[in-house]
Amino acid sequence: MADQEGTPQKSLGTDVISPSKTLYSTPSTSTSGFNSGNDMSPPWDQGWQLFIPASIQDGSSRFGFIENALSEGNEQKLIEVEEQCKSLVNECEEGSDERRWLVRQLVEVRLKIQEKKDEDVSLKATVRLVLGHHMQLQDNNLNNTKLQCDRCCAAIWAMIHSWFRCIDCDYVCHTRCLSLITRACVHVAVSERPEYELRICPEVGLASSQRFKCTECNTPVTFTIPPIVTCFGRYTPQADQSWSEPRLCDYSGFYFCPTCHWNTSAIVPARVVHNWDFEPRKVSRAAQQLLRLMAEKPVLILKDLNPRIFGLVEELSVVQGLRENLLQMKRYLSTCDSAISEHLMWQLGSRQHFVENAHSYSMQDLIDINSGTMLPFVNQIHESFAKHIKKDCKVCHGRGFLCEFCHDPEVLFPFDPAVYSCPNCLFAFHNSCWLEKGNDECPRCLRIKQRHSRLSIPQEDDFS
Ligand SMILES: [Zn+2]
Ligand SMILES: [Zn+2]
Ligand SMILES: [Zn+2]
Ligand SMILES: [Zn+2]
Ligand SMILES: [Zn+2]
Ligand SMILES: [Zn+2]
Repeated sequence: MADQEGTPQKSLGTDVISPSKTLYSTPSTSTSGFNSGNDMSPPWDQGWQLFIPASIQDGSSRFGFIENALSEGNEQKLIEVEEQCKSLVNECEEGSDERRWLVRQLVEVRLKIQEKKDEDVSLKATVRLVLGHHMQLQDNNLNNTKLQCDRCCAAIWAMIHSWFRCIDCDYVCHTRCLSLITRACVHVAVSERPEYELRICPEVGLASSQRFKCTECNTPVTFTIPPIVTCFGRYTPQADQSWSEPRLCDYSGFYFCPTCHWNTSAIVPARVVHNWDFEPRKVSRAAQQLLRLMAEKPVLILKDLNPRIFGLVEELSVVQGLRENLLQMKRYLSTCDSAISEHLMWQLGSRQHFVENAHSYSMQDLIDINSGTMLPFVNQIHESFAKHIKKDCKVCHGRGFLCEFCHDPEVLFPFDPAVYSCPNCLFAFHNSCWLEKGNDECPRCLRIKQRHSRLSIPQEDDFS
């Protein structure tokens, strides 16, 4: 059948073609030769032949990347390979065997890309909008993850159940529970109003406000009826089976049924802000999800919420001091080309609010301060920024100050210890020199004011 001596093999059978290469073996009425027409036309128009040029069959890995991309199925990679294939086709001699083979590969790549696009569309079609949730059908049936349905509390076995997950808040439920969801997506609440309940367990009253119903799903709830002791012994009257035990959510102060409150514990922001109390309390599922989504949002302005707390928690006041320094360092770093190109401020990672203001904290910040992991982190950032400004960078160092009062040659920076920095112009003086001078106006501010009044131009930030 095939010529083994280097001439192109023109076998029609599948005997020389691996199964992966028979994908598009469109039946053809022609059994000999090739269609001499336009080789860019679809295979079914060409009297498609299953043919691999010997040069490629010989194990030349030159075109191996095409097959790799086809088997990997990565859409981006396939798009790149499509482009490479196109240019390879153009480079090949017209009518050559390699060219025909490459055209066929190109068609395969294009079909695979289309297949991937269709998959995406069908994936999007599996997202359902329910009470603000974007519930997406999960099809990872091969893993044996066990989850708990947020609606009915029963187990979800990924391998046997059909189930959905909210892509925004991670709410999960069986497909059969999808139409019964009663909890609105907490992600919507968090996006619209990223705030915490900061009253400590503002209990609203099961009877007065909730009328003995779960605040989320309206299931009747009541406390257990106490046992009755009679001369015949002790017995517990049977409560109506449709009633269940109310569970208080320490975060919201509402009562929930056991389906909506799983007795899971979480640190409650109100207790932290007012009492520096990190003891986890039992909260509803909704509160737990909300606390998780809010954890890294810097929405707690502690100096307004509870200014006394800085005097009570030493580590918090140290971190606060370092954060104020970081803000002063930002004035150097944000105007220094080398600091910008080195992405120095990226060291803060998700804590960019540390260089946006000195007062906002996220719950995660407070948890880390309490656990002792925050102080080393801020210290390390502080050291790194200071090293750039005072040692590594001539530009930043050149923007230091000499104390005008004592004319000491030591260069001072507003974030140095024992330095007084004018809040208006940032000019730095030794703390002792400033105190010695009494409450006089900063000499630099005075000069700027005099200059402005002489020139009578509007004042602007003179920091340079
Ligand atoms: Zn959701
Ligand atoms: Zn369920
Ligand atoms: Zn409920
Ligand atoms: Zn610099
Ligand atoms: Zn001085
Ligand atoms: Zn000043």
